[in-house]
Amino acid sequence: MKYISTRGRAPTLGFCDTVMTGLASDGGLYLPERWPEVSPDEIAGFANRPFAEVATDLIARFTGGEIADADLGAIAEAAYGTFRHPSTTPLVELSPGLFVLELFHGPTLAFKDVAMQFLARVMDHILTARGKRATIVGATSGDTGSAAIEAFRGRDNIDIFIMHPRDRTSEVQRRQMTTVLADNVHNIAIEGTFDDCQALLKGLFNNKDFRERASLGAVNSINWGRIVAQTVYYFTAAAALGSPWRKVDFTVPTGNFGDIFAGEVARRMGLPIGKLVIATNENDILKRTLDTGRYEVDGVRPTMSPSMDIQVSSNFERLVFESCGRDGAETARLIASLGQSGSFALPEKALAQIRAGFAAGTTNEAETAAAMKAALDLSLYLADPHTAVGLGVATRFRDAARPMIALSTAHPAKFPAAVASATGVEPALPVWLAGLMDREERLTLLPNDLKTLEDFVSGKSRAWEE
Ligand SMILES: *Cc1c(COP(=O)(O)O)cnc(C)c1O
Repeated sequence: MKYISTRGRAPTLGFCDTVMTGLASDGGLYLPERWPEVSPDEIAGFANRPFAEVATDLIARFTGGEIADADLGAIAEAAYGTFRHPSTTPLVELSPGLFVLELFHGPTLAFKDVAMQFLARVMDHILTARGKRATIVGATSGDTGSAAIEAFRGRDNIDIFIMHPRDRTSEVQRRQMTTVLADNVHNIAIEGTFDDCQALLKGLFNNKDFRERASLGAVNSINWGRIVAQTVYYFTAAAALGSPWRKVDFTVPTGNFGDIFAGEVARRMGLPIGKLVIATNENDILKRTLDTGRYEVDGVRPTMSPSMDIQVSSNFERLVFESCGRDGAETARLIASLGQSGSFALPEKALAQIRAGFAAGTTNEAETAAAMKAALDLSLYLADPHTAVGLGVATRFRDAARPMIALSTAHPAKFPAAVASATGVEPALPVWLAGLMDREERLTLLPNDLKTLEDFVSGKSRAWEE
């Protein structure tokens, strides 16, 4: 199995190089050159099987044999062994035919654990086989950083450096990062904003000498290794509700389009999905794109679902490429126009294809709060604000003939203030996290200065070559 870039001008790579590289050298995103197929009998066979087994079965179809099946199985076992629910990603029924797929039973209480727990182990495995080390750097406003730190802590061949803007994350989010005391974990509080952190991150990658000597890597949501791990729960959830013999719909609270694109991958592999519904908060670029055919960047508005407060939805490029008949030159042209003028128009055929498979809706702040209240009043269910955006949209797209599965991306205790203000109920942290607020923290405070950051990283990274 080879991987090609959405912009058509980067070398094709195997699975391991694709995962280690992240972004393609032409600025594009990697996709498999063809979609592996899953037969109806195989889908039916996924029902009632452990998540790690289904993950191994599905992901093995993407590795081109570069990772031995037994090793892949051990990686999946270990990754999903960190989840606190025996079903890994259980379904909960809120009303007849409306289900919540809970993706937050991992160590940091958000769905990013599903992909990150897998990716960290795969990367470490690849580096061991190659006798190499790497340095992972990232910038976070909350969820991604804690999921990455939890996943990479204690890995033999990888050091991880995560920047967050000082005093600008929630206390729970900060503590989830800074109370991890493993030697290979480095939390950096930057004197600045999240945008400053992102600019510093770019600065590290743009310094070619530094990038090579540190063997720099990233684990952001465009990494193919994250997408592929997220396809698994579409299969397990659909199979549990009678797939492939009946279709199911999914609603996905969406930011960078990684989670919902994994659903599109499942569909292209043969999972009979009716509609994939894109749910956005007031940052509704994707909903406007489906309505008008024009992808147009606007300012970011802060909402109570901060992990979806985005301006540019990076994985959407993968869907653009697919819907343009996998034309890399056309995709590159559209993205270039986005860079120049802040927008592009989808070609007619591409737009028609996207509208056939997807719907989109927006839940504003008042509606998000109302969705949390309704879930509690009607179904005794406490939803976090991201999940509530999905529930608000899902109810508008119900088809009586099919189950609707709304993805739940975070535990309510991750966003206690918003949940309490909407419902009057203060969500409790799970018992196994109860000591979080008393644990020792470790972090380094650095000024918003690239040179200082480079010196810090090179001084601590075990991959650094003098
Ligand atoms: C990252 C995140 C999302 C958005 O997922 P994408 O793959 O970026 O669309 C939604 N909810 C939560 C809680 C998240 O952390």
